[in-house]
Amino acid sequence: MLRLENVSKIYPTSARPALDDVSVDVDQGEFVFLIGPSGSGKSTLLRLLLREETPTRGSVYVANWNVARLPNRKVPKLRQRMGCVFQDFRLLPTRSVADNVAFALEVTGKSEHTIRTVVPEMLELVNLTGKADRMPAELSGGEAQRVAIARALANRPLVLLADEPTGNLDPETSDDIMLLLDRINRAGTTIVMATHDRQIVDAMRRRVVELHLGRLARDDARGVYGARR
Ligand code: ADP
Ligand code: ADP
Repeated sequence: MLRLENVSKIYPTSARPALDDVSVDVDQGEFVFLIGPSGSGKSTLLRLLLREETPTRGSVYVANWNVARLPNRKVPKLRQRMGCVFQDFRLLPTRSVADNVAFALEVTGKSEHTIRTVVPEMLELVNLTGKADRMPAELSGGEAQRVAIARALANRPLVLLADEPTGNLDPETSDDIMLLLDRINRAGTTIVMATHDRQIVDAMRRRVVELHLGRLARDDARGVYGARR
């Protein structure tokens, strides 16, 4: 589903590589934690998968796409099949909960009929049916992240990329979000989640890919966060 082959990324302004000869393979249906200290290359790896950056060396594949070689005009098609959630939710502040989810379907050209069907399905999936007409500012952090997850899943992505999705949430709310992501993964969606949250990684016991200074430091099938440094 996702593959990095000997990928290095050197930003023009930076002395050391952000990623240094990294190879990783993720099968459909996997749940992968991407961990490592700040600056170890986690965001760069996610940005390469989205073609927000291109590798200096090596190859990046998502499903059948050779991502680095994809013509620019096909990049939107790739991104439509990747769901993204972030630490800061990134909801549209002037649109209701339902309209935030609808927007994701509008930009991919879905019909009114599809939008009317899919939006309530997505809100039900994340347990927010009763809050369809709320505005983002009226939501708790956990609710806002659930809207972001609903929006990310609306177009049935091949993979959900989550960059520190619990970074702004208290531990209890983080656990709720992880239960939701676990349920989504068990229903078949591949998930790659960058995180610093030791408790979550240790509780989930899923695959752990660890980066250090841009190098692959560890790839454990049912890993823990690792020794406290
Ligand atoms: P992480 O997400 O693990 O914190 P990043 O991928 O953001 O790591 O960063 C990896 C390295 O690349 C860091 O040294 C960072 O300073 C550098 N870096 C990231 N983005 C850029 C950029 N756009 N331009 C130059 N250097 C960058
Ligand atoms: P939590 O403690 O679960 O993070 P909050 O205490 O922030 O949640 O919110 C509790 C409930 O109040 C939530 O259902 C949320 O939708 C609602 N709420 C929070 N802030 C506002 C607001 N500014 N206006 C209206 N409702 C709000």
